[in-house]
Amino acid sequence: MSEFISPAKPIIGDEEREAVDRVLRSGMVAQGPEVAAFEQEFSAHFVPGRPSVAVNSGTAGLHLGLLAAGVGPGDEVIVPSFTFAATGNSVALTGATPVFVDIEPDTFSLDPEAVAAAITPKTKGILPVHLYGHPARMRELEVLAAARGVALYEDAAQAHGAALDGRPVGSFGEFAMFSLYPTKNMTSGEGGMVTAANEEIARRLRLLRNQGMERQYENEIVGFNARMTDIHAAIGRVQLTKVDAWTKTRQANAAFLDAHLQGVVTPPVVEGAVHVYHQYTIRVPEDRDGFVAALKAEHNLGAGVYYPIPNHRLPSLAPFAPGLELPETERAAREVASLPVHPSLSQDDLERIATAVNTLTKAGA
Ligand SMILES: *Cc1c(COP(=O)(O)O)cnc(C)c1O
Repeated sequence: MSEFISPAKPIIGDEEREAVDRVLRSGMVAQGPEVAAFEQEFSAHFVPGRPSVAVNSGTAGLHLGLLAAGVGPGDEVIVPSFTFAATGNSVALTGATPVFVDIEPDTFSLDPEAVAAAITPKTKGILPVHLYGHPARMRELEVLAAARGVALYEDAAQAHGAALDGRPVGSFGEFAMFSLYPTKNMTSGEGGMVTAANEEIARRLRLLRNQGMERQYENEIVGFNARMTDIHAAIGRVQLTKVDAWTKTRQANAAFLDAHLQGVVTPPVVEGAVHVYHQYTIRVPEDRDGFVAALKAEHNLGAGVYYPIPNHRLPSLAPFAPGLELPETERAAREVASLPVHPSLSQDDLERIATAVNTLTKAGA
């Protein structure tokens, strides 16, 4: 059988290895000049005009972002249930209540009407996820948040470079988190970057990541150690110079699949949106699990299911949502499958993916 096509493949080159070696040889490996440079370069590249604060994971970025925005016990934050568990977890870790709301079927992101219906006097903010690299409905959510006097935040973990109406994701919320985990569109090994709407939130983020200190041993607030190392920042700085080319390749791969797949629902892109295809996610309305298993067994092709269990059904988060029914979330969890779209795919791989999908959908018809 042909070689296995994996669903994700981080690309680490000689430049990354040389950058790590440079930091190691300097003898200064903890947060320092590489992190400071990475923060500047990340802002300039993705969200010009907003300060960035580097942390040691995307999850830490969400947690600290919410704390910096003043979220705490007694507050509610509206989140999707159809996402990675870190979204709801980070709200719960602040002591606030994650309020799970349904998604709309086309973009898989928060449904603005359902969000409007879920706002209560306790609602502190709304935390949409730009799932799979497609921007959430920020136009409607921005208007809604302003009208109802609640804050808007962003989980941009999967969406480096995505945009809506010419505005980059990461420029809408009080804060936005970008993950730098190896399978994301760019990596620092592990890590997260938080963009902030203003210097005050950025300063609180810097305090929270470093024991509440701005000046050594003058701890102002209770904080964490969530610092990024210079080793990780050095990797991230190199990846930043490559990510735009990778994104273009992801978009070209997606265009090929859009044009050639039959019998499945391909991912729509809303007008004015730039999709960066962290995942290329189709719907398989009948027997998704059988379809994914057959891709592997008959075509040696790895497809992912993100995410099979809605967060409000997870043992960890279900206690926040007793008896909750979210029909579009449940349907997406049953139907979605993500095909390989990463920049390492060859033309031959793309043709194999299209042939495999079309063979299976024809067989099932
Ligand atoms: C990856 C991811 C996170 C968490 O990021 P880590 O860097 O893995 O901690 C949060 N939210 C979403 C939607 C993600 O995909």
